[in-house]
Amino acid sequence: MKRFGDLAPSLRTIMTPGPVEVDPRVLRAMSFPILGQFDPEFTAIMNETMEMLRELFQTKNKWAFPVDGTSRSGIEAVLTGLIEPGDKVLIPIYGRFGYLLQEIAQRCGAEVVTITKPWGSVFEPAEVIEALDLHQPDLLAIVHGETSTGRVQPLAEIGKACRQRDILIAVDAVATIGGVPVETDAWCLDAVIGGAQKCLSVPSGMAPVTYNERVERKLLARKRVEAGLQSGTEVPDENRRPIIQSNYLDLSQLQDYWGPQRLNHHTEMTSMLYALREGLRLVLEEGLEERFARHRLHEKALVAGLAAMGLDFYGDESCKLTVVTCIAIPEGIDGESVRSMLLDRFGIEIASSFGPLKGKIWRIGTMGFSCNQKNVLHLLGALEAVLIRHGHSLPAGAALQAALEIYEGG
Ligand SMILES: *Cc1c(COP(=O)(O)O)cnc(C)c1O
Repeated sequence: MKRFGDLAPSLRTIMTPGPVEVDPRVLRAMSFPILGQFDPEFTAIMNETMEMLRELFQTKNKWAFPVDGTSRSGIEAVLTGLIEPGDKVLIPIYGRFGYLLQEIAQRCGAEVVTITKPWGSVFEPAEVIEALDLHQPDLLAIVHGETSTGRVQPLAEIGKACRQRDILIAVDAVATIGGVPVETDAWCLDAVIGGAQKCLSVPSGMAPVTYNERVERKLLARKRVEAGLQSGTEVPDENRRPIIQSNYLDLSQLQDYWGPQRLNHHTEMTSMLYALREGLRLVLEEGLEERFARHRLHEKALVAGLAAMGLDFYGDESCKLTVVTCIAIPEGIDGESVRSMLLDRFGIEIASSFGPLKGKIWRIGTMGFSCNQKNVLHLLGALEAVLIRHGHSLPAGAALQAALEIYEGG
C-alpha cells in the first residue's frame, strides 16, 4: 500500500498578487538536466540571465543577478549590504510591505525614521523630498508597488531628489517588475529588487536585484578580504567599515561569484535559474512596452466588469496599481466564504488582505501569465455566480458584457 499518493496539484486559475500561473515553457525549462556550477554551459546561462535582467530593469548597471531565495532575500541582501549599524534610514510607509522594510532595516541596526500615509493612498513626491531634507538619511528605502493595498508610488522625482542630495535609494519593485514600468536608470534608483512569482511568472525562489557603482562602493568598503579565502579589492584598515552581517546574502561576495572571477560562494540554484532565464526570455520576446500594455488592457476589462457588477473599489484611484485590483467586500457578505466557493467550484483563487484590511477587501491580481482574457472572463462570471449564491443582488450578466466591450475595442 502506498502511504503517500502521487503528487497531483490541481490546475488552478490564480488571480492573486502572487504566486501566479507559470508558462509551460518555464515549467519545461525546470525539468532540464543539471549542469555543474562552473561548467562553461552553465556560466554562459548565468551571463545571459544577467544580460536579460539589465534589460528588464532598464539599466546599464554592471550588476544585475538573482539572489537565491524568495523576494525578501533580495530585500535583505540589499539592506544588509547598504545599512551599517547607526546609519539613518528613511522609510515612507503606505502599506504592509513598507513595514517589512522597516523591520529589516531595524535588524540591520539602522536608526529608522518612518513617515506614513493612510493605507489606500501614496506619497506626493514633495512630501518624501521634504522628509529627505528634514532627516538627511543615508538611505531611503521605499516600496514601488504595494500589493497589500494595490497602490503604486511614483518614484521618478523621488529618485532624482535622492541623487541630488547624495542619498542612496533602494526600491522594492517585487510586485511591479515585468508588469509595470520600472526605470532604474532614468529614475536614478541605486538598488532595485524584483520578484519572480509575480509579474515575471516564474515560481517563487529567486529575487533578481540590480545596483549601481554607488552601491558597489559602499559594499566594497565593508568587505573583509581574508587571504586565501577571498581575493578582491584590498581595503586599507583605516577605511574599513563594519562587516556585512550575512554570508549567504553578502552582495560583495555574490558579485564575485556572478562576475568574471567566479569565486565560489553558494551552489547556484540550477533548475530555478533555468526557469528564470526562460521567464526573462518570454518577457523580452513579448517586449516590455507590449507587456505593460497587456497588463493595462486586462486590468481595464476586469475593472469594467467589476464596476458593472456594482462593486466598490478600494483606495485612491489616481495611484491604482495596474496589476492588483482591490474591491470592498459588500456589506453582509462573508469574504472568506466567497473565496472558498470560488476555489472549490471554479478552481479560481483570489486574495484577501492583511492587517487593517483583513475581511474588508478582496485583492485580484492580473500578473504575468495569469493576466489574460480567459482568466478575466472566467473570474468575472464565477464571481457573479458566487455572489448571487451568497444572496447578493446584482445586475446579472452585466459584468461579462462590460468586459467584452473592452475586449472588442470599446
Ligand atoms: C510579494 C512581495 C514581497 C515578498 O515576496 P516573497 O517572495 O514572499 O519574499 C515583498 N514586497 C512586495 C511589494 C511584494 O509584493
